[in-house]
Amino acid sequence: MILTINCGSSSLKYRLFSEDLAAVIASGLIARIGEAGAYCEHKAQGRQAEIHQPIPDQDAAFDIMADNLMHSEFAVIGDPSEITAIGHRAVHGGDVFVASTLVSDEVMAQLRSCIRFAPLHNPANIAGIEECQKKFPGIPNVVVFDTAFHQTMPPEAHVYALPYELYEKHGVRRYGFHGTSCRYVAQAAADMLSRPIEDLSMVVCHLGNGVTIDAVKGGRSVDTSLGFGTFCGVPMGTRAGEFDPAIIFHLVKEMGMTIEEVEAICYKKSGLLGVSGVSNDMREVEKRAAEGDTRCALALEIFVYHIRKTIGAYAAAMNGLDALVFTAGIGENCATVRSKVCAGLGVLGVQIDEGINGMVRDGHPNISSAEARVATLVVPTDEERMIAIDTVDLLH
Ligand code: AMP
Repeated sequence: MILTINCGSSSLKYRLFSEDLAAVIASGLIARIGEAGAYCEHKAQGRQAEIHQPIPDQDAAFDIMADNLMHSEFAVIGDPSEITAIGHRAVHGGDVFVASTLVSDEVMAQLRSCIRFAPLHNPANIAGIEECQKKFPGIPNVVVFDTAFHQTMPPEAHVYALPYELYEKHGVRRYGFHGTSCRYVAQAAADMLSRPIEDLSMVVCHLGNGVTIDAVKGGRSVDTSLGFGTFCGVPMGTRAGEFDPAIIFHLVKEMGMTIEEVEAICYKKSGLLGVSGVSNDMREVEKRAAEGDTRCALALEIFVYHIRKTIGAYAAAMNGLDALVFTAGIGENCATVRSKVCAGLGVLGVQIDEGINGMVRDGHPNISSAEARVATLVVPTDEERMIAIDTVDLLH
């Protein structure tokens, strides 16, 4: 069996796959670790259990996971040795990690050297690996990076026009995120089209609470909308997306804000929430916009405008576009956003069938109209499966 782990600062997601990855044997989410209201949802054998109890730290969370998998009434593992390997999500691999890798002492040291790029996320990812080494000794661990897929970006896409020493000596560059999702979705889209990924220029729109627009040419990421950090590019739930950095100097020097206050604005108070003043949740923003709330309508228009503009830019960067792919919470579920994004892209050959666009939930992933020159697809993302695939590949 293959176990996947996605360990955040206050959450732990796990999924247990059969050896051939054909079946999901168990899965769980442990949330609010170290906070009030901690809970665990565990699914196995067609049943679901919910546990509410104090979960003080990651160590306690891993104990609960191990107990759920091995000792509870839902136990699916008789002995830890039935787990062949464990795949871990890591947010930031810097420019050290260009692909998924088997964990060794050296890899752990390199992973620690990347903490400076993702101080909120990487420590939790590292803690997850250490917990597994402790609780499942002798079982190989594999680490899969959100940034690795984007390491193929050419220099003109990943080097900022800042003093070159910042890039060369300090690693200040575009890294990109959501790479595991984009890689999975790009391959799945090529499979759906029955075309080799090597022949395709695609734009993948990962539209969730975080947003990545990714240019994928020949199966390789050649440009991506997130950068050194995770608030540039397209506006997100609470993150600003692209804006003039001169505003930061203005907020600090003229308005007397601290850098922490500005950081909170950029990451937590902007995007759909900042413009609408109501919510970071697209469902709420869409509903209120339809009811006539002008700020919600504007938040929605800004969101789709930036996506459309980025798709146009990436079609130019790739000198063509064969497929446009929507994924993640908004991309998979929000027909309004897909429709509004595509409405301005006729010039590129994108044309969707509005009837089919409304039927995606009924299993109609190809929403292109018959006349379209570009295939527009809706592909559910599955980062856990991608992690499991890489884990199996590395074992063999
Ligand atoms: P994710 O980060 O991929 O879980 O996506 C979260 C985002 O997906 C939130 O903004 C949700 O509002 C949005 N979302 C989920 N379901 C829907 C839906 N049916 N319609 C519109 N947005 C949705």
